[in-house]
Amino acid sequence: MIKPDAVADGNTGAILKMIEEAGFKIVAMKLTLLSDERAGQFYEVHKERPFYNDLKKYMSSGKIVAAILEKDNAVADFRKLIGATNPEQAEEGTIRKKFAKSIEANAVHGSDSDENAQIEGSFFFAGTEQFA
Ligand code: ADP
Ligand code: MG
Repeated sequence: MIKPDAVADGNTGAILKMIEEAGFKIVAMKLTLLSDERAGQFYEVHKERPFYNDLKKYMSSGKIVAAILEKDNAVADFRKLIGATNPEQAEEGTIRKKFAKSIEANAVHGSDSDENAQIEGSFFFAGTEQFA
């Protein structure tokens, strides 16, 4: 996912370019807006964390780009490409190093396991057949 700050700042194209150049194939993609409730559902796993309410507000503050990406070893390679959650710790050459503004507004999301990639893909694209 490309998060609201990065979309609003006009960084969608640059981020997609980095993703494609790293060898990921875009299998499904859309520009959409999450409600506070849907954002909360997406980040349900963090509901006990102190930043959860702010995170919901931020993730529903503007349009996001959701995409399903394909590559060998996609989850691990994508996590490497996006960099650490906190941009101050993100390595040079990562998407977050380049585009993240803070630990919250950190430009992109990447699934943390194959299982969650499946769940998150369905969250945005259930009922569509383009990525089958
Ligand atoms: P990641 O996105 O790297 O998988 P997490 O799953 O830990 O990181 O957190 C989900 C999202 O919640 C982060 O990408 C970020 O937007 C936000 N977040 C995480 N930790 C904090 C924090 N300490 N303060 C504010 N927001 C946070
Ligand atoms: Mg995470």
